[in-house]
Formats: sequence, structure tokens, C-alpha cells
Amino acid sequence: MTTWTDRAAKLPITLSGTGTIDRAAHHRLDEAWLAAAWSHPTTRVFVVSGGQALVEDTEDGRTELVTMPSFDAPVTEEHRYFLGIDAEGVRYFALQKDSLPGRMDEAARPAGLREAGTLLSERDSELLVHAVALENWQRLHRFCSRCGERTVIAAAGHIRRCQACGAEHYPRTDPAVIMLVTDDEDRALLGRQVHWPEGRFSTLAGFVEPGESIERAVVREVAEEAGVTVGDVEYVASQPWPFPSSLMLGFMAHATSPEVQVDGEEIQEARWFTRDELRSGIESGEVLPLMGISIAARLVELWYGKPLPRPL
Ligand SMILES: [Zn+2]
Repeated sequence: MTTWTDRAAKLPITLSGTGTIDRAAHHRLDEAWLAAAWSHPTTRVFVVSGGQALVEDTEDGRTELVTMPSFDAPVTEEHRYFLGIDAEGVRYFALQKDSLPGRMDEAARPAGLREAGTLLSERDSELLVHAVALENWQRLHRFCSRCGERTVIAAAGHIRRCQACGAEHYPRTDPAVIMLVTDDEDRALLGRQVHWPEGRFSTLAGFVEPGESIERAVVREVAEEAGVTVGDVEYVASQPWPFPSSLMLGFMAHATSPEVQVDGEEIQEARWFTRDELRSGIESGEVLPLMGISIAARLVELWYGKPLPRPL
């Protein structure tokens, strides 16, 4: 039997990476190794600031992360993140700074993950997602959640340590579920959030609550947002979503009752679409195309069975 996960494996999910970088976590507490890695001539460094890094377009039409050797990097001891090693043995570090460095090279421009995620190579995308996620966490966890004192960076950016009470804090990831609900007629349920423009529809989504399984979170969120009861729930794929610290867990879910009653707080409108209705809606402009880097478009595409239509 072909599962949704098998089918999803053929659809690349932006930001998810394919493991081209070995994070080499066992080196993070080894200061001597880190110092040697930092000063190695092949080591590459980039600056991350406010979720952005410098990228540039190459002559052959690709977009690359702008990296530099460590001897060219801005001076900082404190906010240095070790990101890992690629297949050629190159070590990568990110520096968190208050601003991106100025460049003589006019081709370089600042870009965040929403733009760069779809343009960068697997390797560069993995590096930038990791660096941005660490930066977000570091920025929001400067104080100890146990005693309130200031924390300091450790483990090459992967721990914050409290010098007052000794607590070690690890980067947090907030699980969120995102699901495409289908019914017995194989229609898909898409919703419009309260703040979205008319015609913009996407999958339902929400955060997993404390003490809740991810499957139960799918059932609860669909019931809360759209009033639809869901039976079977099948995991498909996940996507790091460091805006600032989520992990999107993608599901297909099957409705046992198709009646829709939106909550009016998060979701303004929810509708069942046949494939023909979605295609004609997008082609006529009545429905805005699902674009961007989110796994939502991939889930809808999986159900749709081929690349999603574009406006005519
Ligand atoms: Zn503390």
C-alpha cells in the first residue's frame, strides 16, 4: 500500500533539508576542536541578523548564501554558532550580529527564509534554517526561566546556561499540526483566516497543547476551527518553521461529518473543494493560488495529484 508519506517523498518540502550537512553535535562542547575548526582555512562563515543573511545570484542563475573565511569574519566571540560539516569536510559557522555586514560586492542582498528558502541549494538552505532557528531562540531566552537571572551562550550556540542556578536551557521547538481534511467525496477542506483577503484559502493548522498527542491535536483543531469531525489521521511529513520556533507536522485527515461551522475567531470561512472547483477557482482568480514555502501547498498538491494550477 502506498502511504501519503511515500507519495510526499517525491515532493520536496522547502526548509526541510535532506541531511547534506552533518551537524556533528559531539563537537559542540569541545572548545579545542571548535577553536581549530574556526581557524581552519577552508572553514566558511556567514552572518545572520534578524532572520536574514546575505545571498547573491551567480552567473549561472543560482542563488547562494554569501560566506567568507573566518579570518574575514567580523570579530565576535560570543554569538558564534557551529552548524556542521558538509560532505567535503568544510566546517560552517554562523555569527549572530546586530546588523548584516556591508559588502563591496553589489550583487549581495539581504534575504530571509521566506524568500531564500526556495532559491538556495539544499546545503545553503539547511545552514540558514539552522542559523535562523538558533538566532530566534537565543534572542528570546536571554534570561533563565527557572530563576530569572541572565543566561550565557554555550555549546557553540546550542545551549544557554544560567550562571546563577546552573540550569541548562536547550533550543525549544514548538510542535504545530497542519492538515488537509478530505471527505467521502474526496473533496478538500480549505479555510480562510480572519485576517486573510477574500479568496485566500489554505489548510487548517494549530499548535499542539501540553499533554496532547499530535493526532489528537489534529482532531481538536479541525473541530474547533471548522466544526468538522475527523476520524482517520495520517502523518505525511514535517517542516521546520522557525518563525520563530515551530515544527510543522503535516497530516492528511478524513472527515466523518462534512458539515462546516467555522469558529469566526481564527477561521472566517471554510469550504469543501473538488479538484475541478479548486482549479476553476484559481484559474478565474476567485481563489488565490497557494504559494510560498509552507508545507500547506505541498499537502494540497498531494491531494490534487499534480502541480497546482495557476491563474489564467
Ligand atoms: Zn537560573
